[in-house]
Amino acid sequence: MHEMSIAQSLIDIVDQEMKKHGVTKLLKVKVMHGRLANVVPEALHFAWQALTLETPFEGAELVTEEVPLKVRCKQCGITFEPEDATLLLMICPQCGEEFGHEVLSGKELYIENLEAE
Ligand SMILES: [Zn+2]
Repeated sequence: MHEMSIAQSLIDIVDQEMKKHGVTKLLKVKVMHGRLANVVPEALHFAWQALTLETPFEGAELVTEEVPLKVRCKQCGITFEPEDATLLLMICPQCGEEFGHEVLSGKELYIENLEAE
């Protein structure tokens, strides 16, 4: 389950950020994940809870939000959001091209913000 390693990275980053800003109590962290990042929010929440148990981060709220997938058609150049897609097959609504589109968003995985005091 790669959410465990994602949660561990989150904790490491949050820890560094908090030290940098001289705060000790984490209230909330918001994570943005692209559809292609293959993050299962439930699994990430579970991993977060398991890893923060009995640490200073216990009880902090984890919020996850999915970043929609956006691609640009290789053929006609329009940008569109595939309804239900994998990188392998995304059909352009304008010209029908199926392959080779440029992915503009949907791969990201980052911390949007965190609240601490
Ligand atoms: Zn097209």
